[in-house]
Amino acid sequence: MPEKITFLPISHTGWGSLSNLLNEVNRFHVKKILVITDPFLKDIGLTNQVIAPIEEAGYSIEIYTDVAPEPPLAMGEKLVAYTRDQQFDMVIGVGGGSTLDLTKLAGVLAANEGLVADYLNLTGTKQITKKGLPKILIPTTSGTGSEVTNISVLSLETTKDVVTHDYLLADVAIVDPALTISLPPKVTAATGVDALTHAVEAYISKNASPVSDALALQAIRLISNSIRTAVANGEDKQARTDMSYGSYIAGLAFFNAGVAGVHALAYPIGGQFHVAHGDSNAVLLPYVMGYIRQSCEKRMKDIYDAMGFSSANLSQEEASYRCVSELKRLVEDVNIPTTLKGFNITEDALESLTQDAVEQKRLLARSPMPLLRDDIYTIYKSAFDGVIVEK
Ligand code: NAD
Repeated sequence: MPEKITFLPISHTGWGSLSNLLNEVNRFHVKKILVITDPFLKDIGLTNQVIAPIEEAGYSIEIYTDVAPEPPLAMGEKLVAYTRDQQFDMVIGVGGGSTLDLTKLAGVLAANEGLVADYLNLTGTKQITKKGLPKILIPTTSGTGSEVTNISVLSLETTKDVVTHDYLLADVAIVDPALTISLPPKVTAATGVDALTHAVEAYISKNASPVSDALALQAIRLISNSIRTAVANGEDKQARTDMSYGSYIAGLAFFNAGVAGVHALAYPIGGQFHVAHGDSNAVLLPYVMGYIRQSCEKRMKDIYDAMGFSSANLSQEEASYRCVSELKRLVEDVNIPTTLKGFNITEDALESLTQDAVEQKRLLARSPMPLLRDDIYTIYKSAFDGVIVEK
């Protein structure tokens, strides 16, 4: 099947890559820059450290901090209105996926009319027609891959939805692991398993290609081998570097191949219970993979090997079972609860979670095993009970 493959944006990666920021800004011949960041990063001085070189070079800079994790739609509407009103000529996002997603929306919708709500994937009616302002994205978590995708995720009342368009792709991404040293263990774990989930889901996606496969397996290798160290010792330079590359590469993999069932079931958990995106993926990852195991046995054997184990003396079936167990063990090892109960989700919520997950058709369509309403309920129930169940 013919493939569309996208490797944007221009990226600077690796320890110290932030030193490219000023040169990149200079290329765009802009004057008035909006820097979008979250209040915590501003308070700890990270934002100012990042933008110091462009401030010293004399650019007019405004810092916008009305950003919260898992940003609700209203937060996007407010930022877009502000960006239009103040007529900036560049946006720079410094933060985790929540900040980067809002930055993408602000940059693009500054030049397109209407509300953010008009452009939502599930209910929107408008098409983005203009590219908008140049965007530079500087992630401070190793997780979402937002710096290389054309998606912005927003929280709605009971679920999440996305705005997606190639104009949302950044012009420049600067992925410097040094910016992730200050991440606390809990966020390192949640964002890291988010990145792992991107790679695993891209690898088993119905839209996977030889290109996304290569990216996904390398991301799985890097993340599986470094996440425990990054959580236990956040100052470990090598582990932070591997996590940074791992999440960036996983972003490229899933941007090209898509994510599937884990994300479809995770969105309602984020929407209804305000569980961080990485945690909601992590708690479901072993249960979704366990349920669909038979539809992608060979690919799960490859994942098992990429995680650093050897399937040499195992049947494909046995290796795929072990893959599910190792995914669960990894989530446990980084201290993320492995049952929905662990997030105070009660059994009576499983029905409404199912109802919302069924609507995530764009994601479900990429699952190697069709996931219908009953399947989805069964997976939620297995994640509630903490017992992996197969189709
Ligand atoms: P986040 O941006 O919500 O940040 C989580 C917390 O980490 C915040 O409290 C933040 O202040 C803190 N933090 C960030 N960097 C830090 C640092 N260096 N040191 C200390 N603290 C730091 O977390 P996230 O997981 O990166 O982003 C989640 C959002 O991204 C969700 O809304 C999710 O749906 C979305 N997402 C988007 C894509 C995409 O392709 N656009 C993909 C996956 C997820």
